[in-house]
Amino acid sequence: MGTGGARAGAPLARGVRHDPAVAGDVRFRLGRSLKDLLGERTAKALDKIGLRTEEDILRHYPRRYGDRGRLSDLRSLAVGEHVTVIAQVARTSARRMQNRPGAILTSIITDGTNELTLTFFGKNLGTVKYHEGRLRPGESGMFTGTVSDYRGTRQLTHPDYRTFRDVDDEAAAMESMDWPIPIYPASAEMPSWKVADAVQTVLRPLRLEDVPEPLPAQYRREHGLPGALEAFRSIHLPHSEGEWRRAQDRMRHEEAFVLQTALARRRAAALAEPATARPPRAGGIREAFEARLPFTLTAGQREVGDVVAEELARPVPMQRLLQGEVGSGKTVVALRAMLQVVDAGGQAALLAPTEVLAHQHHRSITGLLGPLAEGGMLGGAEEGTRVVLLTGSMGAAARRKVLAAAASGEAGIVVGTHALLGDVVQLADLGLVVVDEQHRFGVEQRDALRAKARVSPHLLVMTATPIPRTVAMTSFGDLETSTLRELPAGRAGVTTSVVPAGNERWVRRMWERIREEVDGGGRAYVVCPRIDAADDAALVADGDPDDVPADLLDAAAPAGPPLASVEEVTELLRAVPALAGVAVGQMHGRLSGEEKDAAMRAFATGETPVLVSTTVIEVGVDVPDATVMVVLDADRFGLSQLHQLRGRIGRGDRPGVCMAVTAAAPGSPAFARVGAFATTADGFRLAELDLEMRREGDVLGAAQSGRGTSLRLLRVTKDAEIIDAARAAARAVVAADPELAEHTDLAEVLARHVDEETAAYLERA
Ligand code: ADP
Ligand code: MG
Repeated sequence: MGTGGARAGAPLARGVRHDPAVAGDVRFRLGRSLKDLLGERTAKALDKIGLRTEEDILRHYPRRYGDRGRLSDLRSLAVGEHVTVIAQVARTSARRMQNRPGAILTSIITDGTNELTLTFFGKNLGTVKYHEGRLRPGESGMFTGTVSDYRGTRQLTHPDYRTFRDVDDEAAAMESMDWPIPIYPASAEMPSWKVADAVQTVLRPLRLEDVPEPLPAQYRREHGLPGALEAFRSIHLPHSEGEWRRAQDRMRHEEAFVLQTALARRRAAALAEPATARPPRAGGIREAFEARLPFTLTAGQREVGDVVAEELARPVPMQRLLQGEVGSGKTVVALRAMLQVVDAGGQAALLAPTEVLAHQHHRSITGLLGPLAEGGMLGGAEEGTRVVLLTGSMGAAARRKVLAAAASGEAGIVVGTHALLGDVVQLADLGLVVVDEQHRFGVEQRDALRAKARVSPHLLVMTATPIPRTVAMTSFGDLETSTLRELPAGRAGVTTSVVPAGNERWVRRMWERIREEVDGGGRAYVVCPRIDAADDAALVADGDPDDVPADLLDAAAPAGPPLASVEEVTELLRAVPALAGVAVGQMHGRLSGEEKDAAMRAFATGETPVLVSTTVIEVGVDVPDATVMVVLDADRFGLSQLHQLRGRIGRGDRPGVCMAVTAAAPGSPAFARVGAFATTADGFRLAELDLEMRREGDVLGAAQSGRGTSLRLLRVTKDAEIIDAARAAARAVVAADPELAEHTDLAEVLARHVDEETAAYLERA
């Protein structure tokens, strides 16, 4: 595959003017190590906050900017927080301690209204007096430390500080009087001003030619953006607010532009590979399948189907993302595409993120195909093919058979998990790769599967989570997008309500509700955030860490009662009077592939009509009889995740009931999130709300390609205009200059990103 093509044409050594023997293995500009530039000690402290190279520290942007004239609001400081504040000294006094040897110096600093105490201990008065000389009343400066509480007074013990008078050069101090003060994300070891000093040491000697300029001059002119070096200077040592704002704006454009160029090149490289045209064939398996479909396709399914059919018929690989509301029927669209390829003599592979889903796809595809899936077998249709399943937990003998069927071409459709990516898997003539629920797959895995084809296969990526446009452009910018917005007719829909965990009467009623549904032939999911009581990481272990709401990631320790677990809730349900005699099954990530499949089958058939589960059922599981879902500790899940979960019910003609249980206090953000979920059924709207509530890195997902790390200032939530502009410009650049021969700096920056991605991938693999 030529998708690593960003490497091509990258002038690796250009602009490196440092002796490699001194600077180490420098291939890119700004790649020198901080150890060489700042010395061992400082470099070590910076390493702890993840800064290793010149570029790392230059891109370690201030978190905010302080103002000498405007003191920090000291009232809002929370105990336990590591803070950096700008304040003025009110009074300072030193004394011997009364009950033990040693001396103490306290200095009260103020923002004009509120006060904070600084405390220093020393062997004797002499040692603490040193601070007395520096912390004179009226003096202002920056103070940093961890807020603690001593007898009701908030204080910083042994804070680090720098008064504005400390700046050695008097003239410089006067001049910089009203410059914004950069405040860096800092650690106890590296207070903000030490970071600032280090940044300046690295930045000062840099010359124009030392810094790559990935933005084309014309683009900068059009958007009024400063150059790369100027932007670094203004962002780290601005002379005014306007200056750092302009610099930040430039960096956002740069982030967007570099990413969009990478995506445009990926796309161009994929399209440059020849593909086998797979035109539809009259009288083939696809037509036979359509004739036996038990329902009529929605308008959306037909439209997208036409686009896909047409793209498959071209000798250029299709690169398409199909996104759609939960339950909108993406699988049928994919299946029609797969059958078209089979009709044209090729094979299709369907890659699913979990074993459960792979099993289910295999089951539903063979179900929909009926005798058409029994090609070559007695009683099978003449126009048939075979659908095989490959998962990691399969026995050796079964596995061999499947591999043989795939390699010989006998199997037209191969469904599988990551196991499909293995080296032993060979396909006779892979014409189409369908990736379901893309957000679980990295770009590398997509490529691994595509690499199994002699010529580039067509690609259809399906995502269940409706994604806002800006995210689609950022995460999937190398794909064209189709959207299924409408649900098949006749869906009765789902009613959602919020159940306060403390309201016993409601909770009792909730279990009764399950009983009623089960008695009526329905099935019920009960979703828990954990597997068992000992499992405190289930949110992450069983679900997707990207789906955890930001406030949970930020919280030091989850407060409140322990979260519901599958084990405990199963026990509980077995004792609930309303559910007497109802069989309760279990489902979670620690079960083996076979156990999971058995659990899903027992649930689908009604053997165990109640299934207590973690979020492993979140994605794509289809049991049409499922009518109720209880989500325990619903506030522990992200909005999109809740919507996915809810999508598991109301899939047949009977209305679904979803009950979101939460112990969150009414009025809290967590409660508001659950409330939003209950009142909104539109997945796109929820995805947007989710986006607004999450941290950016989580949205794009580091697993997506490591790209998350290169977006520091760009916000997909807020910067749609920048992303649009950068995308158009990047596509134009790549169209005119595919090898970036005229854009050497851009090529250099891209090559470095590709290098980092590869390194990150190799580390993970
Ligand atoms: P999703 O888009 O969430 O993956 P599925 O493809 O799993 O949705 O489809 C959900 C259910 O809807 C399946 O049971 C499928 O057979 C059914 N379905 C798909 N298309 C239609 C349609 N046009 N009319 C009625 N039911 C449909
Ligand atoms: Mg699906």
